[in-house]
Amino acid sequence: MKQRVLVTGGVGFLGSHLCEALLAMGHEVLCVDNFFTGSRDNVLHLLENPYFELIRHDVTVPLQVEVDQIYNLACPASPIHYQRDPVQTIRTCVHGAINMLDLARHTQARILQASTSEVYGDPQVHPQQEGYWGHANPIGLRSCYDEGKRCAESLFFNYQRQYGVPIRVARIFNTYGPRMHPSDGRVVSNFIVQALKHEDIAIYGAGTQTRSFCYVDDMIRGLTGLMNQEADAGPVNLGRPTENTMLELASLVIRLSGSRSRLVHLPLPEDDPGQRCPDITRAKALLDWSPEVTLEEGLEKTIAYFRALIR
Ligand code: NAD
Ligand code: UDP
Repeated sequence: MKQRVLVTGGVGFLGSHLCEALLAMGHEVLCVDNFFTGSRDNVLHLLENPYFELIRHDVTVPLQVEVDQIYNLACPASPIHYQRDPVQTIRTCVHGAINMLDLARHTQARILQASTSEVYGDPQVHPQQEGYWGHANPIGLRSCYDEGKRCAESLFFNYQRQYGVPIRVARIFNTYGPRMHPSDGRVVSNFIVQALKHEDIAIYGAGTQTRSFCYVDDMIRGLTGLMNQEADAGPVNLGRPTENTMLELASLVIRLSGSRSRLVHLPLPEDDPGQRCPDITRAKALLDWSPEVTLEEGLEKTIAYFRALIR
């Protein structure tokens, strides 16, 4: 059935792919963004579509529109961007969540929160299951994002308990793919851009820290699947259940891009988590979801995107 779907953060990396997927599913899409990290370029190809509407708006300000579903993605996701204006990051996470939850409450819309593996902080349990409460520093440099997202989750579950708002909460692990901004600052885009320019690849710390990397198409399938299933399942991890060290990622990027780059080491940022890997048992059972794109395939597509962009 055709739905009117609001996507906040809709011109960002994930948001633009989500808008595209929702239009392809036959929905009307209202894309809201304040362009803090996202770019109009990401949705240029959608602007002619009569079922797509783009509104410049900051989610920290209340919004009144008639919608059936809300995907709340608005928030800078890269550490360099969310630490640029940490107070605004907290406002976006917390006031943004309140405003979107109020909208969901008044329109009786279903609302999905783009939460994050960062709610687990620097985890002491591996792999991370949804029942793990995490190990986050409440006052460190990353706390504007970690604690902002943790507070947003609390708001979601409290709006559900107190007002019966139908919520979905996705804990997204590191996701990459075309349309990441070349100066986004996250590891996959940094490594690929450096490799394609044959510049030194900057590994922060020893490079033995791990992340799990999910290709964007798999993530979008997970997000829409979670939104449209009927169970009230609590938070759901979405990510690739395989870990790679940053050293492994760098050598894979160098090999796949045919680069002459060498590795250099820079200091590890404060509170940088040592290990991250999702347990996706719940997503498998609930959504029949698991990532299909291998890291090598996903990197090849992303390298091709950046190669064309840089040229
Ligand atoms: P992104 O930075 O590309 O996109 C975020 C979008 O939100 C941008 O278009 C930005 O302009 C917009 N935005 C920021 N503050 C806003 C505000 N106050 N009002 C309106 N719009 C605002 O990042 P992304 O990777 O696409 O991430 C999207 C969401 O997914 C974020 O909420 C992020 O926390 C979450 N997430 C992403 C990842 C990942 O690996 N990509 C991992 C975990 C969680
Ligand atoms: N990282 C790195 N070089 C870079 C960017 C990041 O070695 O140019 C490391 C970073 O220290 C972290 C990992 O890569 O350990 C993932 O960083 P990213 O910012 O992509 O995501 P997050 O730390 O939020 O998971």
